[in-house]
Amino acid sequence: MPLILILALILLVWLFVTFKARQRVRDCRWRENHEKDTPDGRYFVCMNCGVETFCPDNLPPPVCLRPENRR
Ligand SMILES: [Zn+2]
Repeated sequence: MPLILILALILLVWLFVTFKARQRVRDCRWRENHEKDTPDGRYFVCMNCGVETFCPDNLPPPVCLRPENRR
């Protein structure tokens, strides 16, 4: 039965790779807080890592702003 083991191993590697890729892209889930809006831009806070930012175009940042070394 070595074939089934090889297939299981490939599946595990594939799951791991897709999981890591998803983590990289979707690290941040931005929430607006209009109470903290400033003239500089709209206030966004990341529900995932707690990073706060202000966006002049009223759109959340497309990527996670958390520093690499703190992930
Ligand atoms: Zn984040």
